[in-house]
Amino acid sequence: MLWSGWGDPAQARELPEQVRVLLRDLLGVRPPTAPASTLESVRLPPVALTGARLAALAEVVGPGHVLTGHEDRVRRTRGKSTPDLLRMRAGDGSDAPDAVVLPGSHEEVVALLRLCSDERIAVVPFGGGTSVVGGLAAAREGYAGVIALDLRRLDRLRSVDAESMVAEFEPGVRAPEAERLLAAHGLTLGHFPQSFEYATLGGFAAARSSGQASAGYGRFDDMVVGLTLATPRGAMELGRAPRSAAGPDLRQLVLGSEGAFGVITSLRLRVRRAPAERRYEGWRFATFAEGTAAVRALAQEGPLPAVLRLSDETETMIGLARPDEIGSGGSGGCLLVSGYEGERVGGRHAAASAVLTRMGGEPLGAEPGQAWEHGRFSAPYLRDSLLAAGATVETLETAGFWSNLPRLHDAVRLALLGELGSPLVMCHVSHVYETGASLYFTVVTAQDADPLEQWRRAKTAVNAAIVAAGGTISHHHGVGRDHRDAYGAEIGPLGAAVLRAVKAELDPAGILNPGVLVPEG
Ligand SMILES: Cc1cc2nc3c(=O)[nH]c(=O)nc-3n(C[C@H](O)[C@H](O)[C@H](O)COP(=O)(O)OP(=O)(O)OC[C@H]3O[C@@H](n4cnc5c(N)ncnc54)[C@H](O)[C@@H]3O)c2cc1C
Repeated sequence: MLWSGWGDPAQARELPEQVRVLLRDLLGVRPPTAPASTLESVRLPPVALTGARLAALAEVVGPGHVLTGHEDRVRRTRGKSTPDLLRMRAGDGSDAPDAVVLPGSHEEVVALLRLCSDERIAVVPFGGGTSVVGGLAAAREGYAGVIALDLRRLDRLRSVDAESMVAEFEPGVRAPEAERLLAAHGLTLGHFPQSFEYATLGGFAAARSSGQASAGYGRFDDMVVGLTLATPRGAMELGRAPRSAAGPDLRQLVLGSEGAFGVITSLRLRVRRAPAERRYEGWRFATFAEGTAAVRALAQEGPLPAVLRLSDETETMIGLARPDEIGSGGSGGCLLVSGYEGERVGGRHAAASAVLTRMGGEPLGAEPGQAWEHGRFSAPYLRDSLLAAGATVETLETAGFWSNLPRLHDAVRLALLGELGSPLVMCHVSHVYETGASLYFTVVTAQDADPLEQWRRAKTAVNAAIVAAGGTISHHHGVGRDHRDAYGAEIGPLGAAVLRAVKAELDPAGILNPGVLVPEG
């Protein structure tokens, strides 16, 4: 993973000429004047942990598993949001952990949390490091130091119960490896977020992730039938039946807890048979409103394809649903990509096609669907090229009920236009439910003299607009630090007090990911 950008450096993308022209002529983008930092010149704070504390950590995990090298620390500094990347490109490593600690078992995690609690060392659980909401930047004031608890050594598939269709994994397994391990049993999770290549199962659970095929396979939190949580107060085992009426479901308290309540050390996940067949295709709708009505009809009447992604007019024109051919120009209207997976998909395809035709859709055949499938993980690579060219590009998302979706859409757009002047704002609907859907925005704007402050203002305005328009502050990216205040507004003072009470019980010394998720009192 590129330390100041996204993904495998070998897959870095050049900006097509049409995009360069668009950036210059439409948005007024100019190349930045300051050169980007090198890894070696990133400025890190001195290691705050004493030798005795580092030795105590090493006693738990073994000496080779406590790292304080420059590159080790740089690579665990923050996540992969655009502000995170802008800071790294500017050489700002001020949020770096003092040490990276790599536990090899659940028992070691429990022992580390006890030690860190006694010594007031802040602990940031670190999965794939792909958070885009400031979930990996702990507050350090009042702590003896900060460690990144990198879970990569907890990387095993522990068991497969093919009768119940449940697989038990350790949390540090990255998504491609999980799919590879399951494929050997003819199974799949079906969880394919755009961060698929690097994110971990523990991170998916901790941030309540949702993948591109969520319409067919469900959100990640739907897949978690059981889990183990390590806390400074000991461990919790949750989920012993597919459904239960034994009081409130405590799993829901852990899912989305972003390392603030404990460390997930094991996950029992519902799995599916690997699909025998996959069929992807495209449809065109005249307007976003028409397309939205069509995907609502599918969500409410069925049958729902596994993948359903409706781009608005601007996103369709730019070609963002086909990142491998971006800038080649869309064909007008709004592109819907639908994908069917499983056994005998023909019946479902025919029934869904009848609904889409009735709702005004024009079939475009297999090619646009296959182009989307081919480029489905490549859009993040473009962000690095755009940043280098002097454009800020960022994504944000929300969700709401169908009846409120147009209002929510307008509110986010207006907030972005109000703060950024004339940015390019694109949107798609990609996760649909009977009662509503998520809206996913991509924004591109020319960087001004202080792009971090420029984006902070825009983000603050959007957060306020989402809360005021009755949407949720996140459908799948989570809360982190960036959404914490808006989350507080969403759940209200009593909800925030409940979260603080839970944290006080599980983490009395407040060492777990301080500053993330839990609204201040
Ligand atoms: C380019 C890009 C595309 C993305 N696309 C999507 C998408 O399509 N869908 C989507 O849902 N998200 C997406 N994301 C967001 C991100 O990938 C998800 O939030 C993912 O769930 C994070 O997983 P991770 O392993 O990288 O976790 P990290 O980023 O390492 O951690 C995320 C949070 O969870 C905590 N955490 C991690 N592991 C554990 C654990 N075992 N126990 C307790 N806490 C833990 C961390 O402390 C942090 O607060 C995208 C991000 C990027 C950069």
